[in-house]
Amino acid sequence: MDLFTRTQQTIHTALQYLGCDEGMYELLKAPLRVLTVRIPVKMDDGTVKVFTGYRAQHNDAVGPTKGGVRFHPDVTEDEVKALSMWMSIKCGLTNLPYGGGKGGIQCDPRSMSFRELERLSRGYVRAISQLVGPTKDIPAPDVFTNSQVMAWMMDEYSRIREFDSPGFITGKPLVLGGSQGRESSTALGVTIVLKEAAKLAGIPLEGARVVIQGFGNAGSFLAKFLHDAGAKIVGIADAVGALYNEDGLDIDHLLDRRDSFGTVTNLFPNRITNAELLMKPCDILVPAAIENQITEANAGQIQARIVVEAANGPTTSKATDILTERGIMLVPDVLASAGGVVVSYFEWVQNNQGYYWSEDEVNRKLTELLIASFHQVHQTAQTKRVNMRLAAYIVGLRRMTEAVRWRGWV
Ligand code: GLU
Repeated sequence: MDLFTRTQQTIHTALQYLGCDEGMYELLKAPLRVLTVRIPVKMDDGTVKVFTGYRAQHNDAVGPTKGGVRFHPDVTEDEVKALSMWMSIKCGLTNLPYGGGKGGIQCDPRSMSFRELERLSRGYVRAISQLVGPTKDIPAPDVFTNSQVMAWMMDEYSRIREFDSPGFITGKPLVLGGSQGRESSTALGVTIVLKEAAKLAGIPLEGARVVIQGFGNAGSFLAKFLHDAGAKIVGIADAVGALYNEDGLDIDHLLDRRDSFGTVTNLFPNRITNAELLMKPCDILVPAAIENQITEANAGQIQARIVVEAANGPTTSKATDILTERGIMLVPDVLASAGGVVVSYFEWVQNNQGYYWSEDEVNRKLTELLIASFHQVHQTAQTKRVNMRLAAYIVGLRRMTEAVRWRGWV
């Protein structure tokens, strides 16, 4: 089943638990708006290449839509639509005044030059500028986009509007109105919920064996945080391969050697594959890379006691059922990876106020908020006897359905 259909099904079930009728499902089963754009970019060799990009806005009953922009060869319209719906759930369960949005461009940034990426980023903003804005739809980083891309996009938007618009986008460099703590916020969020989950499962973090699949923004900061907290990182993976050592890996050394796309395993001849790593023994498994990694085919062989989804959509529906039946606790993506958008919200608030907070303040607020969200989702799972993914959707959609009703849309 594809991501989009999978998301629709979970939304449908969650809305039934919330006592909503089919009219509400008709509205929320797909984004309100999806824009497809074609972006001509002058390449360094003088040729012109036309890239396809998307921006999807799921629902703006609660407030402006919010979500990242990914640069990846596999981006499709359906994926961007599903991701915008997941952003609605993330914002709902963390109580942010936003609906979900998402963007993407089909491209391979690893084979593009710095200037080509700049022209692509600026071209994308010109193409979507009518649809976005600080009170309409606020982009952010996602897979293979970073603070430099955000800076170009902010600059381009400010030029079009003819005034400085830091609140147009989040994940910016600090000097352009970025927030302290934003870069590491996704990983800090994963760490916070992972600690709560480990407490509930009776696993002390000190010495806990952790496998992290993915060594990008989320995975690399996460490895550092958990290593510093006393956990034993026994496995990591990047797009090339994976490393596993039951005595623990030298995380500082690996972080030192990784390139800007998070690749490091290419330096080690004894690497194994991503698929092999997922089935290695550990206490906590964190898929922090891309979609569809834990499927019907391997869910039966996962040897972890807790799975914490730092990536968006790493576990299929069937695999979620298999893990649940096997008594493995699954902390869903919409909860585990919400730290990024929470600090994006803090960044936007700071931009609107023109007053900036300390890193301690940002991290303290993020910690309080995510602990509360974790327990709300966990409690809902217990009382309604559902898995935590469905519980997260129930909690995440409640406020949106109320806002839709107050506005009289359904
Ligand atoms: N791309 C991140 C996510 O999927 C962050 C989105 C944001 O900060 O708006 O949650």
